[in-house]
Amino acid sequence: MRLHEYQAKEVFAEAGLPTPDAELAESTDEVLAAAESIGYPVAVKAQVHVGGRGKAGGIELAESDDEAREAADSILGMDLKGYTVDRVLVEAAVDFVDELYVGVTMDRGEGKPVAMVSSEGGVNIEEVAEESPEAIAREHVDPAFGLHPYQARRAVYDAGVEDDVASDVAGVLSTLYDLWEDSDAEDTEVNPVMVTSDREVICADAVMNIDDDALFRHPDLAEMEEAAAEDDLEAKANEYGFDYVRLEGNVGIIGNGAGLVMTTLDLVDYYGGAPANFLDIGGGAKAERVANALDMVFSDENVDSVVFNIFGGITRGDEVAQGINDAIAQFDELPKPIVVRLAGTNAEEGMEILNTDALDVEETLEGAVQKAVEHAGGESR
Ligand code: GDP
Ligand code: MN
Repeated sequence: MRLHEYQAKEVFAEAGLPTPDAELAESTDEVLAAAESIGYPVAVKAQVHVGGRGKAGGIELAESDDEAREAADSILGMDLKGYTVDRVLVEAAVDFVDELYVGVTMDRGEGKPVAMVSSEGGVNIEEVAEESPEAIAREHVDPAFGLHPYQARRAVYDAGVEDDVASDVAGVLSTLYDLWEDSDAEDTEVNPVMVTSDREVICADAVMNIDDDALFRHPDLAEMEEAAAEDDLEAKANEYGFDYVRLEGNVGIIGNGAGLVMTTLDLVDYYGGAPANFLDIGGGAKAERVANALDMVFSDENVDSVVFNIFGGITRGDEVAQGINDAIAQFDELPKPIVVRLAGTNAEEGMEILNTDALDVEETLEGAVQKAVEHAGGESR
């Protein structure tokens, strides 16, 4: 789960990190009221899960009511790299002289968390990592001991951070590490940490990703999940307990097992189609689960056809087939064509009972995918 900036900032502030005064707003009036109570100048910042909001026009500074109104009108409702902005964070603007990067993530190559600091903050850190990796100071952490204070100081020193703010920046890094560990986070990151002309250190942005499989250990963070979900479908997937990722194509995909679903995505692409989603309904495919999966896929207005790729294992093929039949029985007419491929335990029994009046049934995965791609108006080779 990726938190929004405003949520991550709440968590960071709670942990003692310095963040600007801020209020969330959903309308121009709310932006004006927030700016009034915070005091000008303010920064108005789009709350969507995209990087580089600044460059894309999702962040504006305002020094007066007129400018705040203009900023609110232009950002609220705008399309930012495919996401509609319906909330902005109104924040005391920071008058900065320097922008740093501070973050903690998992270094899978090393099998250890890594704490990082760079003097080249404010910009796309992935670019910095690619073009001048030496500009990012790194300390690998033994999780048994945590980030030692000397390591935090060394990272800050190696990054060339100026002496008079070094200990404050090291403090930010240590807190980000503790949060990373305590919250089962995948990343905790501030880019930029701003240094003001008064030599104050302020966390001007905040990124926090939590490991979904550990969310049950953090009810306070899990509570933020609904508000963090970027669209209705993601919220629905959370509710149903599905692994779901929305993609940009028009062939809906449902399968039981992540590998099976990935293979289906690849084949849809191979046959000239474009997958609309990744959706793994997991083990057990009772009618309710299948119905929920269909509800998800049919709710995506981009979807023009659906392919079911089911492999009977412990869950038998005939049970899944029954689940599919029951789930589609609720429709007088299916909104979009469905192609089913069933293999594994009791596949034959399953194929026999599938309702072929309503469904296309294919023996092979290749055949099923090609048919779904054709239904969706794509090519197929
Ligand atoms: P991101 O581009 O989505 O990562 O959004 P950030 O919150 O990192 O902001 C991007 C850039 O906007 C910063 O690096 C600053 O240059 C600018 N910016 C953001 N907040 C402020 C602010 O309070 N004051 C000023 N002057 N600039 C800001
Ligand atoms: Mn940023």
